[in-house]
Amino acid sequence: MKWAVLSDLHMNFKNCNTLTARDKLIEALRKENTDGEISFVLITGDCLHQNRGNVKEIAYYISQIAEACGKDVSKVILCPGNHDIDRKIKSRNTAIKTYRKDGTLPDLETCLNGYGRFKELYTLVYGDIYEPFSLKIVDDFRIISVDSCLLSMDDRDYGKLVVNFTDLAELAREIKRDESKTNIVIMHHGVEWLSAEDGRRFQHWLVDNNVKAVFCGHNHAPGLSILTEAIKPYGIPQDGISQFTCGCTLSDSYSRPVFLVAEYDRTRAIKARLYEYRDDSSWEIASGALRSFPSGIYRESTTNGMVKNSYDIPKVYKNIFDIGTDVAQDINVSKKLDFFGLRGGTFLEGNSKISNALYEKGKNIECRLLVSDPYSIYIEKRLRNVPEFAPQEKLEKQWKTNYLDIKKLKDTFPKTDSWALRFHEQPLLYRFIITDRSIYLGYYTREPSSKSYMYRYTRKSSVYRSFTDLFNSSWENASTSFSSVIPDRCSFVLDNFDMKPSLVINLTSACNMKCTYCPKGGENLKECDTLCDISQIKYLLTAYANYYKEKRWTEKKVVRITGGEPLLDFERLSKTLHHAKLESYEKIVLCTNGLLLKKCYENNSTVWEEIKDILLLKISLDTLKPLVFKELTRVDELKTVLENISFMKLKGFKIELNFVATEKNVGEIESVYNYAHSKNLVGLKVLTVNDFGGRVLADDVEKELNALIETLRKKNYVETGLYVHNNKGIHMKRFIYDGCTLTIVDHMNKGNSVTPRRTYSEACQECKYYPESVEVQTGLNKPCATGIMSLTMRADGLLSFCRMQIDSETNMSGKSLEEVREMVRVQLKKFERCYHYEIGEKR
Ligand code: SF4
Ligand code: SF4
Repeated sequence: MKWAVLSDLHMNFKNCNTLTARDKLIEALRKENTDGEISFVLITGDCLHQNRGNVKEIAYYISQIAEACGKDVSKVILCPGNHDIDRKIKSRNTAIKTYRKDGTLPDLETCLNGYGRFKELYTLVYGDIYEPFSLKIVDDFRIISVDSCLLSMDDRDYGKLVVNFTDLAELAREIKRDESKTNIVIMHHGVEWLSAEDGRRFQHWLVDNNVKAVFCGHNHAPGLSILTEAIKPYGIPQDGISQFTCGCTLSDSYSRPVFLVAEYDRTRAIKARLYEYRDDSSWEIASGALRSFPSGIYRESTTNGMVKNSYDIPKVYKNIFDIGTDVAQDINVSKKLDFFGLRGGTFLEGNSKISNALYEKGKNIECRLLVSDPYSIYIEKRLRNVPEFAPQEKLEKQWKTNYLDIKKLKDTFPKTDSWALRFHEQPLLYRFIITDRSIYLGYYTREPSSKSYMYRYTRKSSVYRSFTDLFNSSWENASTSFSSVIPDRCSFVLDNFDMKPSLVINLTSACNMKCTYCPKGGENLKECDTLCDISQIKYLLTAYANYYKEKRWTEKKVVRITGGEPLLDFERLSKTLHHAKLESYEKIVLCTNGLLLKKCYENNSTVWEEIKDILLLKISLDTLKPLVFKELTRVDELKTVLENISFMKLKGFKIELNFVATEKNVGEIESVYNYAHSKNLVGLKVLTVNDFGGRVLADDVEKELNALIETLRKKNYVETGLYVHNNKGIHMKRFIYDGCTLTIVDHMNKGNSVTPRRTYSEACQECKYYPESVEVQTGLNKPCATGIMSLTMRADGLLSFCRMQIDSETNMSGKSLEEVREMVRVQLKKFERCYHYEIGEKR
C-alpha cells in the first residue's frame, strides 16, 4: 500500500522553477503510480500563498494530482496551513491574544474566522463542508486530519498553537469504534509548534488512538522526528511515533521542492522515499539529503520490538532481592504473573515483597508458578555447577533446602481458581517472572542464584515475547504434582531414610588367584571350610524376593554373586543363577576373575543363556601387562582372561571390568579403560584397595586418582556422581564417554579420599569400625571403608547386614525357609534410619 505526501504547494507563488516543478510533479506522480498503485495523496496544508491564490486553479491542480494517481479526488486529502487562513481578522486575533495571555481557549467558530478561502477550496474539491477534525477511510487506512492552524495568528506562532479541542476527543471515540484500520494523522504544523502542555497531551492522544505516523509540512525542509512522548505507558522514548515533515513544493532561494512516497508492507513497517526537484529539472530520489533517509529512503525496522533495540536494553538489578519493589508495583497493575525457576522460595507467603503483593492481589491476578520437580536431575546439574555447592555434602544440603521449599510451596499453595502450581523437569539455565508489564530474568550462573544479576525487559522486547512463548509451552508439558515417595537417589532430602539394600551371596571363599590386595577368603574375610548348602541359598533368594514384594520396593531387584571365585564350583553357581531367575531377580551381578569363564560356558551354556539378559559379568582386570598381572594375581594367566573376556563378549554378555588400583598399576587406568571402550564393554570400575578394617594394607593412590579425574574433566567425558544402587555405600565418581563408563570408588577412609561420602545406619553406631566409635577415635581400629550397602551371605551361610559383622547366631546353615525369612527380616531392619556421612564430618 502506497501513498504520496505533498505539502506547502503555495500555488500563488509562481516563479519559473516552481511552475515547472509543479508540472513535472504531476508526471512524477503518474510514473510513480505506474510503478505501483498510489492509494491516496496527502496534502499537508498551504495550498494558498499568504491566503492568496485562485481556488479554482488550485482545485484543478488537485484534480490533476488525483488523475495522475488514477484516483478520485476524494482520495486526495487536504488539511489547512497557516497560508490558507486570513490571519488579519480582528475578532479572531483578539481571541487568540487573550488565549496567549490568560489561557482562555477561543471557541472553534471564532478560530475558523479567516478560513473563508480554504473552506471554498475544500468545498470545490470535495463538495463538502470543512471540519477541523475529521476522518477519512481509504482501504486499510484511517486518515485523521487535525487542524493545527486554529490558533495560528502571526510569526510568533511557534510553541503557542493548540489542537486539544473538544472535537479531538470526540474524534477519538469514533476511532475506537473500529480498531481494524491503520491510523495516520495529517496536520500542517509539527507537534513542536504546539504549546508544551498541548503538545504533550496531543502526543498521548496519538498513542492512545494507535496512530502509526504523523505527516506534516510547514517547515519547508523535509525531516523526520520521533515524538518521544507518544509512547505507551512504561514505554521508552525510542518507542515514540514517527513524524514526517514533508517539505514544500516551491522553489526559492531557501527551498528545494520535495515530496514523499510512503509504503506500508505486510510487516506493518513504513518505508518512505524522499523525492527532490533537482537542478537538472527532474524529480529524483533525494539521496544524500537526510541521514534518516539514507540514499533517500527511510526504512522502519521490521523486527518490531528489537527495532530500536532499546527494548532489549534491560534495567539491571544486582540480585533477586532488588527486584522486589518493581515486581510488586507491576503486580498491582497486572492481570497475570508467571514464574519459571527452581524452587520459587520468593513466592512463599510472607517471604518477599513480591509474595506480599501477590497474596494481597489474591484471586484478582492469574498466577502460574512453574518450579522444578524436587527430584529432577537438573537440580543436581545446577548445584554441581556452583563451586560453593559442588562438594557432595553441600550439594545434598542445598538440594534438601530446595526440596523443603518446593514442598512447602506445594503444601501451602492457595486453592484459588486463578492460581496454579506445576512442576517441570527442565534444565535450569534461567529463572524469570513475567508480569503484564515486564519480564524479570536471571541466569543461573556459577554463583548461588541469590547473588546473580536480574534483568528487566519491557513487554515490547523480543526477550519478553520469547520467554512468554517458552513459558507457555513449558507449562503445557509440566506436571501438576510430584511423587510423594522420595526416590532413593534423593533420600538425603530427609534426615533419615530407609535403604533398600541389594543382596550379596558369597558362594565360596576359595580362589584360583592370590591377589596381593585380597584378604583371606576374599570378601568373606575368612576361609570357610564348610559351605552353606544350596537349599539355604535358595531360601535366601526366595526370602529376600518375598520381602521385596511385601515392601513394594520399586527399585531393580539385584543379587550380586561373588566369592572367592564363584566359578570354581560351577554346579553350585548354576543352581544359584537358575533360582535367581526363577525368583524374578532383575539383575544378577556375577563377580569373577575370568579365568574359568569360557570353560564354564561351554560346560553348560543353557544356564548362561537363560540368564544372559539379566546378567552383568564383573570381571577383574587390573592390568594389560602380563608381568604386572602375574605380580598382582600371582598367576600367569592374563592371556586366558583376555581371551575369555572376548569370548563372553562375542556371546553377547554385558561385561564391566573391575580394576583395583594399587601403586603398581594406577598408571594403567586409562589404557585399561580404552581397552574396555574398544571392546564395547559397559565400562571400567576403578576401586582402591579395601583394607577391611586393617586386614589388608592399602596403597595411597589418591594423588594419581585426582590427576586422572582432572584429565578426564579436560577431555570429552561427561561427569556424573552416583551412589552404588542409588543411595547405598560410597558415593562414586562416574565419567562417561561414548556410552562407556569409568567409575571411581575410593575405599580410602581418610579426609583426602577421592570419594569421601558414605551411608551408615543407626545400627552402625554400635560398630567398632564406625568412624566415631571409641575404637576408631583412639586409633585401635581403622574406620570402615564402605559404609552399609548390602545384605550379605558369607560362604558358610552367615547372614549379616554388613560383612564386617560376624555374629555366628545369624548363620543360615540347616535353617528352614521360614527361619531364613525371619533372619532376613531381622537383618533388613538394620537398614532403616540410614543417613549419609562424609569422612571427617561429625554427626
Ligand atoms: S580373584 Fe578376587 S577373590 Fe580371588 S584372590 Fe583375587 S581378589 Fe581375591
Ligand atoms: S558398615 Fe559395617 S563396618 Fe561399617 S560401621 Fe556399619 S556395621 Fe560397621
